[in-house]
Amino acid sequence: QHKHKVTVVGSGNWGTTMSKLVAENVKENPTLFEETVQMWVYEEDVVIPKESRHYDAGSETANKPQKLSHLINTIHENVKYLPNITLPPNVVANPDVVDSVKDSTILIFVLPHQFIPRVCDQLIGKTMPWARAICCTKGVDVGEKGIRLMSEAIGMRLNIYCGALSGANIASEIAQEKYSETTIAYDPPPMDSRNPTPKGSPTSSQVDLISPSKTVPSARSARLKALPSEYPPLSHENVRKLFHRPYFHVRMVSDVAGVSLGGALKNIIALAAGFVDGLGWGDNAKAAVMRVGILEMVRFGKAFFADSVKTSTFTEESCGVADVVTSCMGGRNFRCAKMAIERGETIFEIEQKELNGQKLQGTSTAYEVNSFLKSQGMEKDFPLFTAVYNILEGNVKPEQIPELIEPKQ
Ligand code: NAD
Ligand code: 13P
Ligand code: CA
Repeated sequence: QHKHKVTVVGSGNWGTTMSKLVAENVKENPTLFEETVQMWVYEEDVVIPKESRHYDAGSETANKPQKLSHLINTIHENVKYLPNITLPPNVVANPDVVDSVKDSTILIFVLPHQFIPRVCDQLIGKTMPWARAICCTKGVDVGEKGIRLMSEAIGMRLNIYCGALSGANIASEIAQEKYSETTIAYDPPPMDSRNPTPKGSPTSSQVDLISPSKTVPSARSARLKALPSEYPPLSHENVRKLFHRPYFHVRMVSDVAGVSLGGALKNIIALAAGFVDGLGWGDNAKAAVMRVGILEMVRFGKAFFADSVKTSTFTEESCGVADVVTSCMGGRNFRCAKMAIERGETIFEIEQKELNGQKLQGTSTAYEVNSFLKSQGMEKDFPLFTAVYNILEGNVKPEQIPELIEPKQ
C-alpha cells in the first residue's frame, strides 16, 4: 500500500507552525503518511538574531547571513518567522517549490494570499494529478471574473480538489502547544473516500464542483483524477488525523466557502477593532464593530456564495465568530491597526517596521473586497467593510466609524 506524502507550501509564522503539527501527526500515523514532511521555504538570507538561543558570538557564522532553508534544516528552528520553537527533524525545508511538491498527494497551502497566484502558476503541471490540497491562507482573490475563494484559486490553477482550514488560530499559541480549535472544510468527490459520504455533504449532482460559488461559474472544476486505490482514502477521518493534535482540536465540515470567508473577512473586522482601540475607545466600541462585522460576514456569504454557505458555519464553528474574537484581541491586523492610530502612521508603515517580514492580510483583503463590492454596486450594504477601506485610503477618519456603520433611520 502507498502512503500519502505531505508538503506544506509556505514557511511563515503559520506555515512553520502547521509544518510542526503535521510532522508530529505523520510520525504517529505511519501506515497513512510518509515520515518526511516537505516545507517549501521562500528563500532569503537571515542573520541569527543576538537574542536567539542559537546565537553564538564565537562561531564563524555569527552575524553573517545564512540561507533560511539551510538554517531550518540544521538547527530545526525558523529563527525569523517562528523563533524559539523547535521543529521535529522530519520537517525538511526545501527552497525549490517544484521539487517540494514532487510525489506529494497532500499539499497544504499556507502563504500570504497575495503570493498564491504566482506560486501556483509555477506548480501548474508539476503536482500529482490526484493530489488533494488544503488551503490555510486567509484572503480572497478578486479579478475581472469576480471573486474567488483562495481554495478555488488554488484548485482551479492546479486542477486538483482544494479544501480549507481556518479557525481562531493565533500561530504562536499553537506553536507553544496551547489549546485551540480549528475548522476544516473538506468536501471531496466520493470517488476518493471509499466510505460513506459524511453528513451534510453535497448531493451527487454537485460533487464534481470544486467549491460552487454563485458569482463565478468558472469555479466549476474540470474532472478531477480519482485517488488510486493503492492509497489510503482521504476521508474526513484520515484528513483529521493529519491535523488534529491534543492541543489542536479539529472539527470537520463540508462548507468550504463559509470556512474560507470567515478567515478572510475577519481580518477586515480586526482592522476596525484596532482603529477604535487605537483611539482609546475601549471594549464596548470594539464589541460594536465586531457585532456589525459579523453581520456583514454572514451577509457577504449569503449574497455571493448562496449555493454553498451555511450561516451555522459562522456561528457554530471556530472559523467564524470565534476567529473574529481572537483576532480582535491579539492578531497582527488588530495590533498594527491600533499602533497606526496611536502613532499617527499608516498601517503600511507599521507593517514594514514592526512585523519583521510577516504580512498583514486585512489590508489587501479590504481592498479586494471593496473592489468587488463596487463592481456589484453594493458598498452601502457593507458599511463596516467600506469604512475600513475608506480609512485605509484616507478618505474618512476612524472617528467617523460610528456614524458610518449606523443604519440610516
Ligand atoms: P507570515 O506573515 O508570518 O510570513 C510571510 C511569509 O511570506 C514568509 O514565509 C515569507 O517568506 C513569505 N514571502 C515573502 N515574500 C514572498 C514571495 N514573493 N513569494 C512567496 N512567499 C513570500 O506568514 P503566515 O503567518 O504563515 O501567513 C500565511 C497565511 O496564514 C496568511 O494568509 C495568514 O492570514 C494565515 N494565518 C496566519 C496565522 C498566524 O497567526 N500567523 C494564523 C492563521 C492563519
Ligand atoms: P493575524 O494575521 O491578524 O495575526 O490573524 C491571525 C489569525 O488568522 C488568527 O486566527
Ligand atoms: Ca486581485
